[in-house]
Amino acid sequence: MTESGRCQCGEIKYSFERDKIISGHHCHCKDCQRATGSGKATILVISKKNLSISGEPKYFESVGNQGMHINRGFCEKCGSGILSFAKELDRVIFIKAGTLDDSSWVTIDSNYFTESADDWNKPDDHIKSFNQNPNLFENIKTVLKSFM
Ligand SMILES: [Zn+2]
Ligand SMILES: [Zn+2]
Repeated sequence: MTESGRCQCGEIKYSFERDKIISGHHCHCKDCQRATGSGKATILVISKKNLSISGEPKYFESVGNQGMHINRGFCEKCGSGILSFAKELDRVIFIKAGTLDDSSWVTIDSNYFTESADDWNKPDDHIKSFNQNPNLFENIKTVLKSFM
């Protein structure tokens, strides 16, 4: 099943096979709150080679809580935040779930950085929660081995 998504203006489009998604997460860290202007970012993890993108996102880098250099990609024309990656692990892309054309099939595995979630945006307590980031990158490296 091929899934697709795009920024607001359509300058940047992407597609991937649904079964290539490794995992889904809500991240409530303060950086994601600022970058999205919302209570959290909802991301889907996928190997870079399994994602095709048309258009060139503009990337802004910030240093994340664990010293990783997080690059968040936005459309230069309309400002939509579409995806992000960590420079230290750039074979993996985090897709912002809200940019999917159809996100009804998405499932979320866990909440990250619930310590910075506020009452107006309470973490979903039906899924696993972590105060911070439970070695996301280490976990992904392990998971990736079965996808590479
Ligand atoms: Zn755009
Ligand atoms: Zn975050």
